[in-house]
Amino acid sequence: MTTTTPDVLAEIDRRTDELIRLTTDLVGFDTTVRGDAREPARDEADLQEYLAARLRAAGATVDVFTPKPGDLPDSPQTPPGLGFDGRPQLVARFAGTGGGRSLLFNGHIDVVSAEPRREWSSDPFRAEVRAGRLYGRGTCDMKGGIAAAVIAAETLAALGVRLPGDLLINTATDEEWNGAGTLASVGYGVRADSAIVPEPTDLDVVTAQRGILGGTLTVAGRPGHAEYPPGDWRTGGAVNAIEKTLPVLAALQRLRERWADDPAHSHPLLPPPSLVPTTIHGGEWWVTYPSSCEVGLDITYLPVQADAGGWASRVRHDIEQAVREACAADGWLTAHPPRFVWDTELPPAEVDSAHPLVGAVTASATALGRTPRLLGEPSWTDAATLTRIGSTPAVCLGPTATRPDGSPTLHTIDEYIEVTDLVDTAKALALAALALTAPAPASVPAV
Ligand SMILES: [Zn+2]
Repeated sequence: MTTTTPDVLAEIDRRTDELIRLTTDLVGFDTTVRGDAREPARDEADLQEYLAARLRAAGATVDVFTPKPGDLPDSPQTPPGLGFDGRPQLVARFAGTGGGRSLLFNGHIDVVSAEPRREWSSDPFRAEVRAGRLYGRGTCDMKGGIAAAVIAAETLAALGVRLPGDLLINTATDEEWNGAGTLASVGYGVRADSAIVPEPTDLDVVTAQRGILGGTLTVAGRPGHAEYPPGDWRTGGAVNAIEKTLPVLAALQRLRERWADDPAHSHPLLPPPSLVPTTIHGGEWWVTYPSSCEVGLDITYLPVQADAGGWASRVRHDIEQAVREACAADGWLTAHPPRFVWDTELPPAEVDSAHPLVGAVTASATALGRTPRLLGEPSWTDAATLTRIGSTPAVCLGPTATRPDGSPTLHTIDEYIEVTDLVDTAKALALAALALTAPAPASVPAV
C-alpha cells in the first residue's frame, strides 16, 4: 500500500502526545547558553545523546562529534580557539533511495537563561501543558521546533516512506551566543541541497536576515579631582571622558538615522540597518573626573551593506568615519581618538524568493490551511551560517512567536508554544521533506 500525504498528516496528529513528551524531555535538559568561552557545559552532551539514541532507533545514521579548537571555518563569528568540551554537535542522516535532493533540518539546543526563575508560573525546565499551550524555557525557541523535526522524520520512517534524497537533522549549540555550533557543524561537513530551520516564525517563511556586528568604543579622559576646575587639557588638566562621549553618541545616532533614511538601505523584507549603544561604563570614583568611558554597540546591517566577502568591513568603516568626523571639532578627541574593538560578527544572508526551497516551504504551510508570508528576520539565526558558509540555502519556518496582543514570547518569562503550532510545524516539515527530497524538476535548476 502506498503511503499518501493524508496518511502522513494523520500519523503526526496521532503522535501529538509523543511530540509534547519529546519537547518536554528536551526542555528538561538545562542547556542554558554560555556567555563566554570559559563557561562550563551543562546538559548539552546528555541532550545530544538522548536525541542520537532516538534517531538511531528510527533508522538514522547518527554522528555526535565534539569540535576541536581549530576545526571551525575561519570566521569572525567566534573567538579564536573556541573549545566545545561537553558541547557536542549532532548530525543524523536518513539515507535516501537515490537520485533525489538532500534536505537538512537544523535546530539549536541552547536556550537563553530562565532567570528570574521565581517569576515563572511553573518550573521553566519542567514543561507543562495549560490550556493548549506548552510552557517552559525553549518550548518555542526552539526545542519545540527540534522535536517537530524529529517527529516529522520518525513519522516518515515509520510509515516506510522512501524519500529519494537524504534527510538530515543537525542539532547544534551556541546559536543564542554566536552561532558557533552550526558553524562547527558546517566545518565538519554538514550540508545539503537545502535546509529548514524551525525557529519560531508564526508559520511564516523567513528568507532574509540582517548581519550583526558587536563591538565597543572607548573614549579617553584624564582623571582629576571633580570638585576642582579641571584646568586646560593641553597643560595636563583633567578631562571628563563621560562628557567627551556625548558628541560620539550623537554622531552614532545621526548615522543610524541616515542609514534608516537612505533608500539604498531599504529592503523589502528587512527592517532598516540599526546601530544601538547598549552598554556604558565610565569613571572610577564619584569625586574624580572619569578617565575613560566605554560604550558597547549592537549593530544590525543589511545584506547590501556587506563587503565583497559578505562581512561588515564597510559597516565598521562607516561607523569609525562618523566618529572621526564628530571628533574633528574637539582638540582632545582629535589628539585622543576613541578606540574601537570589534568582536562578534554574524553574516547577513538571503535566499531568493524564486528559489524552489521557498516555494516548497510556503506550499507546505499553505497545505495546512495557513497563509504564510515571506518575511525577514529582525534578529539572526543559524540559517545565515548554513546559507552563507555551508553552501546550503536555508529558510526558517516554525511556531508562533507572538502572544495574541502581538508581544513576543521568545526569551520571556512563561515562554510557551501552542500545541497546534507544534503539530503544524511537524506536519509542514514532513510535507517539505516529501517535496524537497524529490529529484529536481527538469525545469528548475538544481539547488
Ligand atoms: Zn532561536
